[in-house]
Amino acid sequence: MQKLAAGNWKMNGLDAALAEIDALAAAHPSPECEVLICPPATLLSRLAARAEGTAIQTGAQDCHAAASGAHTGDISAEMIADAGGAFVIVGHSERRADHGEDDATVRAKAEATWRAGLTAIICVGETLEEREAGRTIDIVGGQLAGSVPDGATAANTVIAYEPVWAIGTGKVPTLEEISEVHDDIRARLTDRFGGDAGGMRLLYGGSVKPSNAAEIFGVSNVDGALVGGASLKASDFGGIVEALG
Ligand code: PEP
Repeated sequence: MQKLAAGNWKMNGLDAALAEIDALAAAHPSPECEVLICPPATLLSRLAARAEGTAIQTGAQDCHAAASGAHTGDISAEMIADAGGAFVIVGHSERRADHGEDDATVRAKAEATWRAGLTAIICVGETLEEREAGRTIDIVGGQLAGSVPDGATAANTVIAYEPVWAIGTGKVPTLEEISEVHDDIRARLTDRFGGDAGGMRLLYGGSVKPSNAAEIFGVSNVDGALVGGASLKASDFGGIVEALG
């Protein structure tokens, strides 16, 4: 299984930010892991063009479930493919919270991603309140059951476990807590999808930095990271890519 370092730029980045791609590619011309950057939609095709011929892949942060139509402001998975994207993040907690996306919506978006021939990165994770109530495993298990469509394979799907309280806060679960959730996710996927789930990549996301990446990557069933803030600078993201190699 090839590990994956995925960067989510969120609503950050103007044209000048593309210089980070050049720096990342120069510092890591042939990384051991797969490297992905998901810029805002405005930069998607420019980033894909800039990354051509490098080891960096391009993805989107969201898509609409339909291929086309009267959905003002949205973009489809087909448009993302057309712009040079290979992956789509679906069900990020900021989409679930800010746009009221539920598991059924996320599942439909994952299916749309496959329809366009792309790989879905499906995000799950508990809030602080849910963790403190001892409900993490139930919440994450429920999101997995509801958000991951039938037909998920190691090739078309990546799962990202992102505790909501760890995103952008500098707080990180203990290695034991990460291990407990990732092991449970692996077991649920294997139960539902059989042996193929053995190869489905499970990313950890939430305040990953060069300084904590290596220990997180040492946890069983952690096959990479989904990184927000630390993906904006090639120097930081490069440290994470190195730790994964
Ligand atoms: C994210 O938004 O997916 C994320 C993990 O953010 P950060 O790395 O900034 O916590």
